[in-house]
Amino acid sequence: MNKQTKALHLPYVRPDAYGALAVPVYNNVSYEFDDAQTMSDVFCNRIKAPDYSRVANPTVTNLEQRVKALTGAEHVTAFNSGMAAISNILMSVAGQGKNIVSSRHLFGNTLSLISRTLSRYGVEARLCDLTNLAEVETHVDEKTCCIFLEIVTNPQLEVADLKALAEIVHKHGAVLIADSTVIPFTETNLSSLGVDVEVLSSTKYLSGGGTSLGGLVIDYGRSPEINQRLKQEQLFNFGAYMPAQSAYMQTIGLETLAVRYRQQAANTQALAGALQSVKGIVRVDYVGLQNHKYHNLAQRQFGPTAGAMLTIDLESQQACFNFLNRLKIIHRATNLFDNRTLAIHPASTIFGLFSDDEKRKMDVRPTTIRLSVGLEAVEDLLSDIKQALQ
Ligand code: PLP
Repeated sequence: MNKQTKALHLPYVRPDAYGALAVPVYNNVSYEFDDAQTMSDVFCNRIKAPDYSRVANPTVTNLEQRVKALTGAEHVTAFNSGMAAISNILMSVAGQGKNIVSSRHLFGNTLSLISRTLSRYGVEARLCDLTNLAEVETHVDEKTCCIFLEIVTNPQLEVADLKALAEIVHKHGAVLIADSTVIPFTETNLSSLGVDVEVLSSTKYLSGGGTSLGGLVIDYGRSPEINQRLKQEQLFNFGAYMPAQSAYMQTIGLETLAVRYRQQAANTQALAGALQSVKGIVRVDYVGLQNHKYHNLAQRQFGPTAGAMLTIDLESQQACFNFLNRLKIIHRATNLFDNRTLAIHPASTIFGLFSDDEKRKMDVRPTTIRLSVGLEAVEDLLSDIKQALQ
């Protein structure tokens, strides 16, 4: 089956008693067992069945199974946000005395998780330039548990060579973990590039209309211990599993994901091209533009589409604020890949609590606006941007 057909037609894990066509929402906590032995068998993993919705729920399992079929992964685990998925996967590979090799070019909360939170538990953050392989080599050693990166960084739009990084990290018996939030798994085959575990915020493309938070860990099964720890230990102990209602909305989102994404990526491509000649914009960055530094590498690794996130730079922070205040169609809001177009000034919001020096090191500029491009007509977006620049 083609991926789009799979996204629509894979059966429920447990068929509904009434044959409902959309996946039923099991909003329950507990499950009753026929007898004590079955109950024991389920609790001790001798029989596969849900026992308690903090760790297993048929609606959530259904979403996990669909993503598993679409990606060919060995295990998929759904969490209640992208950050829950990222923190859980990092905690399942890291431990006291280990180090995580990553970059300063990361989503703000992920950077804070690696450089602040996990370091309090004895996990060293080794931040380096992941596009400089010689520098990466000097940071990876026998204590490295993973290289962690975003496939297209938010908001710097940096792309690293995944195959080369996988080779380096695998030599040391560690894993490559990639945040693939910016280009969905329906378009890519990250496993073939050496990625061991994919992690993403399903709040974004999957949820589509900004309906629900969620995160997915997509594990290609090369290090069996990871899934064991994630499913048998962390789901129980941290309690960050996806709620059934969110899984329902994201399953509906998954069914139209590829179609929506391709339209959003096409809109972004058209808008980025047009913005290059708009007066008042001093710089346009989009990986889909042929003149972008990482265009060729991104196409080689991720295929023809380049996501639905672009950035523009204006003359000053004040010019960015004026621009945001004058927008009429585009919303001033944080999130990515909503059906609507959203605009944000990352330096004063997502990265607002980092110092100026830290922001400089992260290449988060005071002059940058991030646009997450939605499904509106491109002409309308362009005219909104032009009027807001005047
Ligand atoms: N990863 C990336 C690249 C993101 O942009 C975000 C949020 O914007 C996250 C992770 C966190 O996702 P969530 O908001 O679902 O926790």
